[in-house]
Amino acid sequence: MKKIIALLTIILIIACKNEKATTQETPIKPTIVFEYGYRLNDFKVINDTIRAGENFSEIMDRNHVEYPKVLEIVTKIKDTFNVRRMKSGTPYTILAKKDSTEKAQVFIYKTSQVRYTVVDFKDSIITAYNVKKPVQKVIKTASGVIKTSLSDAIDNQGLSSYLTYKMADDIYAWTIDFSRLQKKDKFKLIYEQLYINDTIPVGIGEIKAAYFEHGGKPFYAFKFLADSTLKIPDYFDDEATNLRRQFLKMPVKFSRISSRYNLSRRIAYYGNKIRAHKGTDFAAPVGTPIMSTANGTVVESRYKGGNGNYVKVRHNATYSTQYLHMSKRVAKVGQVVKQGDVIGYVGMTGNTSGPHVCYRFWKNNKQVDPLKQKLPAAEPMKNAIKPSYFKFIESLKNELDAITYPTSKNDISTPDIALKS
Ligand SMILES: [Zn+2]
Repeated sequence: MKKIIALLTIILIIACKNEKATTQETPIKPTIVFEYGYRLNDFKVINDTIRAGENFSEIMDRNHVEYPKVLEIVTKIKDTFNVRRMKSGTPYTILAKKDSTEKAQVFIYKTSQVRYTVVDFKDSIITAYNVKKPVQKVIKTASGVIKTSLSDAIDNQGLSSYLTYKMADDIYAWTIDFSRLQKKDKFKLIYEQLYINDTIPVGIGEIKAAYFEHGGKPFYAFKFLADSTLKIPDYFDDEATNLRRQFLKMPVKFSRISSRYNLSRRIAYYGNKIRAHKGTDFAAPVGTPIMSTANGTVVESRYKGGNGNYVKVRHNATYSTQYLHMSKRVAKVGQVVKQGDVIGYVGMTGNTSGPHVCYRFWKNNKQVDPLKQKLPAAEPMKNAIKPSYFKFIESLKNELDAITYPTSKNDISTPDIALKS
């Protein structure tokens, strides 16, 4: 070791001496670039994209490969790469001879940032193979405060719009009504950013955890594989509740259905005429708490004729529910309610013959029978799994809680918290 250091020192001294001694500039050595498995320095590198209506033989012709050779290439590689499937707008690279012939030697068709096909015809043996670049995952965090919309909050920070899609249409699709977001609603995310060559972003991996504050209420989401047989991970909240929620079967506990949804019901109150009953009546004593059957936003809370005191909750673009004849309403318009939250109490206001709640279920602005709807099933987590779940989310929850919100529009709050998981 000492010998090596001594030797290096001598070399360095000589090098320094030489530098001082000579005024002549030494030519800069070109950096050696390896890509697609080739030393690019050995070729003339042509980067281009497939033009509309252009085919493989035209590209080859332009790059000085004569037709019989093109035909041989196309035939040899057809099982790996069908040149007829080349799409206009797809980038490609040609490695050509550096001499005056500038003849193409290798054709690289870049299907995506991650995948490409190499067609090598520089020797008599023609080869073609598909390559998938190794993708690195970097755990990132993001946060934002809603001023106009979720997509604005995401886009203004230069974050991937895929994050908007994942939050609105997947993770919270059943929990939060994204068309009714409120100002100052906020979110935090822990997700995987995918890179190739360590620096080029090529997409989003999985969203590991999310937090959404909607109408002042916290909604945590943690991706977890609760069912090892199905092997489909789901999002659960901080209490191990599946975020894909089913509606509650009924809006009151300990009740019975006194009248079902019935489009041809005859009713004495209206002179025994057919009077469709588009609700489901749940009989219960006056004062029994009425619960919202799913998460949503209160869109109506008032007294009106036959309905009496009623509350209407919008759950998402598809579903709304309505609760009639309340003795007392406790939910205000604009209020965010969670499944099971009390929104009023059973009464006899409006047209009723006894204490009950008339529960109306709206799907795409039409009243339907909730008991006949195929609603998305939420698979509850088995109790035996819960301890490992709570252990799993502990650090993720701490990380989420520690994420700060951007203070101005230009602040990007996306620090890397770990490298290459
Ligand atoms: Zn009714």
